[in-house]
Amino acid sequence: MPEVMGSQQSIDLCEKYGAHNYHPLPMVIQKGEGVWVWDPEGVKYMDMLSAYSALNQGHCHPRIIQALKDQLEKVTLTSRAFYTDNMGPFLEKVTRICGMEMALPMNTGAEAVETAVKMARKWGYQKKGVAADRAEIIVFKNNFHGRTTTIVGFSSDESYREGFGPFAPGFRILEFGNIGELEAAIGKNTVAVLMEPIQGEGGILIPPDGYLEETRALCDKHNILFMFDEIQTGLGRTGKMFAHQYENVKPDVLILGKALGGGVIPVSMVVSSREVMEVFRPGDHGSTFGGFPLACAVGIAALDVLVDDNLAARAMELGEYFMDKLRGMNSPHVKEIRGRGLLIAMEIKAESGVARPFCERLKEEGLLCKETHESVVRFAPPLVITKEELDWALEKIVRVMK
Ligand code: PLP
Repeated sequence: MPEVMGSQQSIDLCEKYGAHNYHPLPMVIQKGEGVWVWDPEGVKYMDMLSAYSALNQGHCHPRIIQALKDQLEKVTLTSRAFYTDNMGPFLEKVTRICGMEMALPMNTGAEAVETAVKMARKWGYQKKGVAADRAEIIVFKNNFHGRTTTIVGFSSDESYREGFGPFAPGFRILEFGNIGELEAAIGKNTVAVLMEPIQGEGGILIPPDGYLEETRALCDKHNILFMFDEIQTGLGRTGKMFAHQYENVKPDVLILGKALGGGVIPVSMVVSSREVMEVFRPGDHGSTFGGFPLACAVGIAALDVLVDDNLAARAMELGEYFMDKLRGMNSPHVKEIRGRGLLIAMEIKAESGVARPFCERLKEEGLLCKETHESVVRFAPPLVITKEELDWALEKIVRVMK
């Protein structure tokens, strides 16, 4: 490898040796700090994607990096064959923030979703009395819960599924936001409803007001677990600690990931009540790295930063400011600006084409964002962003969108 590789060389090497399962913007990130990243040539960009909301605390947050360094000098990996001294404090902190009782640590988001699926099924058999292998979980059109075979099996996006079957049975896909359809679909084998309170990858789709509460009521009535996947929407992103807090609902199961690892290492978690979590017995489930000492050290610091720096409140205030300004630019290409906190969609009008060329133009202006679902440009900067930095971004966005 040459000592200093330029952007083009880096891209060429990745394209030659890496599977083409992504379509990145043609730029290379070599360094990051806060909301800013630099390419090998020293050009500076603002990161408005935040690794799909895994960087809520910003790039290389000093407190999180310090926690990682401190832990690196003690012990890094033990497996769950033994106890560690920092897993208990991490789980206690997570459960307290979630208002729950117990937690199960994993690594990636998809693994945590798989964990929740297993937990809900076993709960259904053991506690609800569903007949063996009949458990059914309700999910929603336009969902995104990860990329394992079970999970893509209940995706409504054919491009996620095509060529990867056969898929696991036991899921029903309903219209997101349609309470009548949900009520009609519930049966004696329904064990859980799995929902993103705002569908992130689906295009930042917000359900109608009251929908979460109505779903909660149906789950209570029929003894069904209400499980929120807040991997993308959680941990301050939408202006509250969790997006479901926009309504008066308490989930039975909360699934976290992304920013729980502080933008440093993969850390995910399933959080629930003792009554549900106790269905797991030794040997039922696990992961070599799940809850490893580095993850716990980083996770504690990641949560402390979110709470101590009031990042949810910051996302709320700056998100409203940013959305107002985006709406005010009256771009001929924009169909709608929508979002909550700093999870914002700019939907492009059909006659203006797809979103990708706008992302490419914004990149030329020094602003990194990524399209989701063809027609949507997603703005999701690190929550540590300042108003001045948002104004800088707005100037570039106005220039491109006018
Ligand atoms: N669930 C949601 C809501 C997500 O947005 C994502 C990732 O974008 C996942 C699950 C999957 O997480 P991971 O990529 O860490 O497996």
